[in-house]
Amino acid sequence: MKTVAITGVEKCELVEKPVPTARNEFVVVKVLSAPLCTEYSDYADGCQRAEYTRGEEDPSCLGHEAAGEVVEVARPGKVQVGDRVVVMPGFWCGRCRYCLSGEYIHCQNPVDPHAACGTEAGAAAYAEFCLKQDWLLLPIPEEMSYDHASMACCGLGPAWNAMQTMSVSGTDTVLVSGLGPVGLGTVINAVYRGARVIGVARNKYRTQLAQDLGAETVLDPDKDDVVAAVHNLTGGLGASKSVETSGQSRYMDLLMQATRRKGDLAFVGESGDYTIQISDGMIRNGLHLHGIWHWNLGDAPDMLKMISEVGDSLDKVITHHFPISRIEDAWKLQMTGSCGKVMVYPNE
Ligand SMILES: [Zn+2]
Ligand SMILES: [Zn+2]
Repeated sequence: MKTVAITGVEKCELVEKPVPTARNEFVVVKVLSAPLCTEYSDYADGCQRAEYTRGEEDPSCLGHEAAGEVVEVARPGKVQVGDRVVVMPGFWCGRCRYCLSGEYIHCQNPVDPHAACGTEAGAAAYAEFCLKQDWLLLPIPEEMSYDHASMACCGLGPAWNAMQTMSVSGTDTVLVSGLGPVGLGTVINAVYRGARVIGVARNKYRTQLAQDLGAETVLDPDKDDVVAAVHNLTGGLGASKSVETSGQSRYMDLLMQATRRKGDLAFVGESGDYTIQISDGMIRNGLHLHGIWHWNLGDAPDMLKMISEVGDSLDKVITHHFPISRIEDAWKLQMTGSCGKVMVYPNE
């Protein structure tokens, strides 16, 4: 089967790998929609992140978001051949307190699917077929497309967890910094819950997209006094809930100041160090800070219900589609920032 490998700075190729086979609770899924995430930055720098240089990640094993059809099972279990499923990220033990409570993304005992199945391939979503434990597959409702269903991964997932963790409702003003795919997914999630949404971003394409998705206004930190503007828009209080998706300290500073006293701030964008003023920044303001990664599996019925109700927004935020043979064009497009969520099709 064809799969994608990054071979240097802005270099990649399709490589041939053996089709994986099902074993125990691991089933084989034919990948029919594979949303792109942050792999373009690995393509841009030739996989220089520490995870690659330490050998923890493999530049020929890429992609962690997918939806597709179950094509092989090794034993009766939670799915059957022919089932349409969302493929949740990672491979986890299934037995620890985190896995059992739906918070599998925080499992301390990840599983190596290649070792578990005695195969050379199957961990990557940018491949014609992938492996997944059956309990990490969500059944897709009949009328839902693979593209829409796959947004349950990073497209809408981390933002969903931020909304759940902070109990966002129609009485909230949600401030979102960074309007890449996760930030745009935050706009969709917050609008779905009836909240008022203010964005902070510089990218013109994504500013327009956020407004099309229902953001009331998007502030440009190069032109606007963001903190003053948010206070003006909220009767001098600040945003009740904030979501940081950029991973940039400049935006974190703005959100620390523009979130109201006793408000909540969710850190979703991956980043390095950031310094917080404990007394003046956090304690005096009574801020609640949250580290947000993926979402609780127990929310799956509610997540799929939301996806079925926000189809028009998903059609707006999924802006581009590429066959896997054009993955390089897809990554180059992502590097420009003039796109929303980008879909790749490993079987086209
Ligand atoms: Zn576990
Ligand atoms: Zn992702």
